[in-house]
Amino acid sequence: MKRLVLKFGGSSVGTIEKSKKVANIVKEKFSAGNEIIVVVSAMEGVTNDLKEKSNSISKNFDNKELDVLLSSGEQISCSLLSGAIINLGLKARSWLSWQIPIVTNNNHTASQIINIKTEEIINFISKKGIAIIPGFQGIAADSRVTTLGRGGSDLSAVTIAKFFQTDSCEIYTDVEGVLTADPTINAKAKKIDKISYEEMLEMASLGAKVMQPISVQASMVNEIPIHVRSVFSGKEGTIITSQNEIDYKKVVTGISYSKNDAKVSLVGVVDKPGVAADIFEPLGNNNINIDMVIQNTSSDGKKTDVTFTLKREDLSKALSLIEKNKEKLNYNKIIHDDKVAKVSIIGAGMIANPGVTHKMFRSLANEKINILAISTSEIKISVLVQENFTQQSVKVLHKEFGLD
Ligand code: ASP
Ligand code: MG
Repeated sequence: MKRLVLKFGGSSVGTIEKSKKVANIVKEKFSAGNEIIVVVSAMEGVTNDLKEKSNSISKNFDNKELDVLLSSGEQISCSLLSGAIINLGLKARSWLSWQIPIVTNNNHTASQIINIKTEEIINFISKKGIAIIPGFQGIAADSRVTTLGRGGSDLSAVTIAKFFQTDSCEIYTDVEGVLTADPTINAKAKKIDKISYEEMLEMASLGAKVMQPISVQASMVNEIPIHVRSVFSGKEGTIITSQNEIDYKKVVTGISYSKNDAKVSLVGVVDKPGVAADIFEPLGNNNINIDMVIQNTSSDGKKTDVTFTLKREDLSKALSLIEKNKEKLNYNKIIHDDKVAKVSIIGAGMIANPGVTHKMFRSLANEKINILAISTSEIKISVLVQENFTQQSVKVLHKEFGLD
């Protein structure tokens, strides 16, 4: 007998028909002799609708009340699914996070799970019950409801797998698994059979939407393999696991892109020690994350240009912080651009294969796609391009690295 966590995303339980289908998947897994803990997110669109409602009251809607509001979506999907499973003649019960409890810190709208009490649910599933738990939420020490941040039900599933020491964690979604690229912009995208935690973390952080990045990090830290699979096809999906389980035949495993970035250039700053620190210190102190950085070498040793990228939502705050410091930084002008996209190739196979960088740059150059900034790590290379070249860049790189 195995103990399984099955997580169903909003698209899998988006309608009553779909919830009934999910109930049948759960029944099948249960009838195969497994203990089942189900984690669900809210029905598709529900959390967004609730968020909009709060926005129409105030853009600064109270965080604690926002958590109470947003967490209600999962209460609906949990009870509907539990009812559908009971309707199939099985024993099921939904729990709300505070009833378990799933204890988090009080960092409202972005809480971390600290502890999950397991006895009652273990007792229930050991007596042939199917437990249904809402993802995305918990309760803080002061008894107030919390949420884990958008997409947080993936993190709930991984954390529940950890606390209940389950044999596997399956994440059901509306695609075949993790794909080599976003299928909506490249029809040649294919399912990846196995991907390492590290690669998946890069893919998700760099734009792939299939898994929430923090949940991948949690699975990596706790060494909990994840099976991402389709709720529609029944076929094997993608296994996210440790690198030594994988035999790398390809240098690049997948391609991600994101359109959340903006680029800032300070033109004509003085080229002397401390200037870069002066530029970035106030940004860091204001929680603005910097991603790519380029500093040109000055030909005369006097003036240089510094370019960096950051999240689009932070752009105006960053510009005003820099302008406040204009006298100290002593630059000639600031240029900024938010019509940019970051396209990344990801693959642990890169570690052992030199020449990936020039291949990437050459294939973009052949398409006359200009590279605005570059950043690399051991297993990824990201380039910043004009936003209107996103699709073309993804397609050409997908082909170049043998993923078509
Ligand atoms: N319902 C939540 C959201 O939309 C959590 C999740 O779907 O994972 O962000
Ligand atoms: Mg999700």
